[in-house]
Amino acid sequence: MNPKVDKTKLNHAELYANLLDGNKQFVEDALSVDPEYFETLAKGQAPPVLWIGCADSRVPANQITNTAPGEIFVHRNIANMVIHTDMNMLSVLDYAVNVLKVKHVIVTGHYGCGGIAAAMGNEQFGLIDNWLRHIKDVYRLHAQKLDAVTDIEERRDKLVEYNVIEGVRNLCKTSIVQNAWKSGQQLGIHGWVYSLKTGIISDMKVSTYNNEHIDNVFRLI
Ligand SMILES: [Zn+2]
Repeated sequence: MNPKVDKTKLNHAELYANLLDGNKQFVEDALSVDPEYFETLAKGQAPPVLWIGCADSRVPANQITNTAPGEIFVHRNIANMVIHTDMNMLSVLDYAVNVLKVKHVIVTGHYGCGGIAAAMGNEQFGLIDNWLRHIKDVYRLHAQKLDAVTDIEERRDKLVEYNVIEGVRNLCKTSIVQNAWKSGQQLGIHGWVYSLKTGIISDMKVSTYNNEHIDNVFRLI
């Protein structure tokens, strides 16, 4: 938390201690602005947004949207995947939609995503290869367009975008989202891509508010 500390120079134990020092600073700063800051937050949460993002340390939901604790409910995994059998993601989604009653769910990918780059190659990385398989499936769905992009970085960026778009589609196909829409809950599902190089978020313009555009086979009545 202390910007004056050069963290690259800290040893193993110092790195650990630095986190707790940072916490002390955080508490001090927050209380200096609002003495009741933690008492208020402890009363409960009512975040209007669920964020499904990449685990990458450079894409923290609150900082890049200039929001505070309590404003975004967050789920993160490698390459911001929405896998319809992932109990962790489904549990977070169910709680966010049915208990917290969030108004928006946003899948946020980022250019320069290591998971996407790894999935585009053939090298083995271990267990994670089985997770990255899902990204390879996204590639397969858009292979014609992706194969036509000759610049490798550009192709990776394009796959980042398709992965977010498919994430949005996968969310829309879940029984959780479709039942929320069916019951009249106002719920928007969106796809964003964040640029590590500029800090700017691009809206993929795939916002969905009902199941009208879902392929018939996935539609639940
Ligand atoms: Zn990533």
